[in-house]
Amino acid sequence: MAKIWANSGDSHLLEPEDLWYQVLPKRLADRTPRTVTEGNEQITYIGDQVMTRTIPSPRRQQWNELFRPPGALKTETRLKDLDEQGVFGEICFPSAGFFTSNVEDPEMAREMSRGWNDWAKADVIDASKGRLFPSAIVSVYDTGDAVAELQRAAGMGFKLIYMPTTPPADRQYNDEVWAPLWDAADEAGIVPAFHIGTGLNPVQFRGAGGAVINYVETALPGIRTLTMLVASGVLDQHPDLNVLVAEGGGSWIPAMADRMTEAYRQHSLFVRPTLSKLPKEIVYRQVYTSFQHDESAIPTVMHLGYENMLWGSDYPHVEGTFPETQKVLHELFDDVPEATRRLITIDAFNRLLGVDFEPPAGD
Ligand code: MN
Repeated sequence: MAKIWANSGDSHLLEPEDLWYQVLPKRLADRTPRTVTEGNEQITYIGDQVMTRTIPSPRRQQWNELFRPPGALKTETRLKDLDEQGVFGEICFPSAGFFTSNVEDPEMAREMSRGWNDWAKADVIDASKGRLFPSAIVSVYDTGDAVAELQRAAGMGFKLIYMPTTPPADRQYNDEVWAPLWDAADEAGIVPAFHIGTGLNPVQFRGAGGAVINYVETALPGIRTLTMLVASGVLDQHPDLNVLVAEGGGSWIPAMADRMTEAYRQHSLFVRPTLSKLPKEIVYRQVYTSFQHDESAIPTVMHLGYENMLWGSDYPHVEGTFPETQKVLHELFDDVPEATRRLITIDAFNRLLGVDFEPPAGD
């Protein structure tokens, strides 16, 4: 069977385990978030916060191995995994770097962001010969710090910044406090890329069904994020600013866009600000999303006209398609018209990043 090549709108880097000691003064590195395994529990300490995830013991070793395939630890070996899996370009989110959104200390957030971005520039952008697009990290606690780092990152060749779908409680995405960052992203041509399950403890509920309940729960703030950006006028005021909500699937986008449009029309007495276009038109123009396995993503593109849908491998995470990416791509796309397959696997990625990536044909 011919290989289906695809670009990935959602993948992850695995940072060196001593990254913070490589890039930060010891005084700060000693206080960075750390994750340890104790018995059946994986525990992350972030300042005074403690996040605990229980892993059933017979599968604990398997879980750790699945999460850390050797290929994900170094760019050169990663590219071999990608060639074998049929993935060409990748948008690469952090792993440990995600906790920059949880540290609650502006100095720590600023310095972790700078250190991570310096590492990703050298070890990922420069080493990947243009195939990997890491999302730079910026502080979510200080907009001035975030703008300065966005501009520095743009100069270093980054095309995206990672942002958490759950921002600090007093800095929601419809707040004016973010305005300078949206302006700076628009001006620099940088894509704010919101990854689901970030900025909060991913274990929200315990008990029967917890794993599935929490997994669904991680995607819900992605819906809130895009609603905030559309309803508050941020995207309307910046018609060239595109955003990505990664890993949360995309078949819900038309339904949520309809709901926003219904509110905008039926509750017009209460609506402020007014927008120059209907919410649905703004979503379809500027909001991109990514999915791994969702069968319903494809008819959403074919029949509902939403064309900003990216497939993503989520490499190397267990939610993703590694090491069975070709099997997943064939199951998803074998019976799908070529134009739709191309849009989802190649063209939406190119359009979002302003690149012209043409993966190799066949094997
Ligand atoms: Mn992901």
